[in-house]
Amino acid sequence: MQDTLTILERLCAFDTTSHKTNLECIEYCRQLLSSAGFDVTILPNAEGSKANLHAVTGPKERPALVLAGHTDVVPVGGQQWTSDPFKLTQKDGKLFARGAVDMKGFLAVALSLATTWATEARDRSLHLVLTYDEETGCFGAREISGYLRKVIPANSICIVGEPTDMRPIVAHKGILGLRATVEGSEGHAATIATKSNAIHFASELVQYLLGKSQYYSAMSSKNTYATPKSTIQVGLIHGGQARNMIAKRCELEFEFRHLPEDSSDVFLTELNAFMTSDLLPRMTGNQEDASIQIETLSNVPAFRVTENSECLRVLKERLGPVEIGCWDGVTEAGYYADAGLDTIICGPGSISQAHQPNEYIAARALEDCSKLLRCLALH
Ligand SMILES: [Zn+2]
Repeated sequence: MQDTLTILERLCAFDTTSHKTNLECIEYCRQLLSSAGFDVTILPNAEGSKANLHAVTGPKERPALVLAGHTDVVPVGGQQWTSDPFKLTQKDGKLFARGAVDMKGFLAVALSLATTWATEARDRSLHLVLTYDEETGCFGAREISGYLRKVIPANSICIVGEPTDMRPIVAHKGILGLRATVEGSEGHAATIATKSNAIHFASELVQYLLGKSQYYSAMSSKNTYATPKSTIQVGLIHGGQARNMIAKRCELEFEFRHLPEDSSDVFLTELNAFMTSDLLPRMTGNQEDASIQIETLSNVPAFRVTENSECLRVLKERLGPVEIGCWDGVTEAGYYADAGLDTIICGPGSISQAHQPNEYIAARALEDCSKLLRCLALH
């Protein structure tokens, strides 16, 4: 058996910052899992620069335990670290490294459990799912979701081990990230009465979004999010060339962070209706070929636990009295739920450590997680 710390040390030594490759890290996990008797499938991205991994052992037709996590980490650039972020450093019961808590700590526990699975839980099946590009938009999970639906029996229990302090998270918001590109007229500022200014129309779009935002914030919601409302935020605007020139082009980037009950499809349909039936006819009045285009930059589904979740029941039974929560941030859980898995987010360490300089996880948190998973696995 390879112990959790040794595995964590190896995992953290791979610099799997999202814009880099994770292939070496995946290869290490493949070797570990293959020698533990797992059937391992590597699913590379289109460019072959990164890969997801799926591993399974035990009887394949029965509902199983699925442990899922991402291999990528956020950058360390611009952060003040007091130790090498890619070398696991122990101090006062804490383990410091980039990814220690988010979320290679959980992966190390899962891999360590896998190494003893064949002898300890011979008649039960375990799936491991490791992904790329979670931090930049859950693109790896999006790719693997359809495949998982085919290879994992429905109603299998799936634990996404993001750092929740082992508190079950039963819902989170989704993110729809969009770019709007408005194209209007060129010309001298003096001729604006007969032209179509892209900034002016883009700002009408901003007004529309603010109105929508007010609509969502007025809706009542009874849940435990930090912000229990869907929100809209314009994060970037870029347009025009000079004060005395009509702005031909303006770009906006904005996000709709939505509760599971506020559909991103409905939001998008209404946005398109506003643009085509209200904004565009006025834009083309002065400039026939004026246009407005919407591109989807990211669309991570919101997540909500399935009704009568067996996964939640089992976790509550094992964890004892524990606070159940909702998250404002996103995870890959929505994609696993879409794949038909009974999914909960629950993992070791605190989210407050994630993405920070001197990121750490307490060794104790890994032990507790290990005990829980072992218990789930064997009973
Ligand atoms: Zn994470």
